[in-house]
Amino acid sequence: MTATRREFLAAVASTVALSVTPPGPAPKRTGKRYAMLIDVEKCFGCMACVVACAAENNVPLGVFRTWIEQLEKPDGTRLFIPKQCNHCDDPPCVPPCPTHATYVTPDGLVLVNDELCISCGACIEACPYGARYRNPVKGVADKCTFCEHRIAEGLLPACVDACPTGARVFGPLTEDNELSRTVRSRPTQVLKPHTGAEPMIFYLSLPDEVNR
Ligand code: SF4
Ligand code: SF4
Ligand code: SF4
Repeated sequence: MTATRREFLAAVASTVALSVTPPGPAPKRTGKRYAMLIDVEKCFGCMACVVACAAENNVPLGVFRTWIEQLEKPDGTRLFIPKQCNHCDDPPCVPPCPTHATYVTPDGLVLVNDELCISCGACIEACPYGARYRNPVKGVADKCTFCEHRIAEGLLPACVDACPTGARVFGPLTEDNELSRTVRSRPTQVLKPHTGAEPMIFYLSLPDEVNR
């Protein structure tokens, strides 16, 4: 988007911000419900996923679509916890967007339309997971897209493909696959369940301390 167009949208948004009706609850998903399962016990913090994501998605230096946090266990060993956008089922980042640049696809992907984003930062502020950043090159809000361009071609997200231990599993919750069978049959956890955002990143073996 040209600077002129973005400036125009910014001006429109600032003049009508008080009268704009937020889009409200996310639309009902009518397609596949994409989700990811992350087995914390299988992650050893190699960062292959972080590197693959950056290369696949031209993520600029200094910002990340996925990152690895560490937690020291009582026995002194470390757990590695991969994080990224949760593609929440009730995403708090969507209603505050004054231009509707942030939206949800019928398959449940939470995405940003670069053409509509005025970089106001409302979605970045609203995300309880710190999953969004201002792309310093494009000048718009940015984050994990679940590698929309790859899954459209039947490929796995780059981070899933790159993981050497299979710590990340991806697929539609609405179909019979490893992800949906595991989510149905084993206890899983999500990050910050109290927010009500209903994350679509499910974890195995996530310690309670992570959410305290
Ligand atoms: Fe939005 Fe944050 Fe949820 Fe991603 S994790 S859908 S950016 S609220
Ligand atoms: Fe990055 Fe794609 Fe993985 Fe999201 S799904 S963290 S965009 S590689
Ligand atoms: Fe963990 Fe797999 Fe990422 Fe390596 S590639 S840091 S094992 S999730």
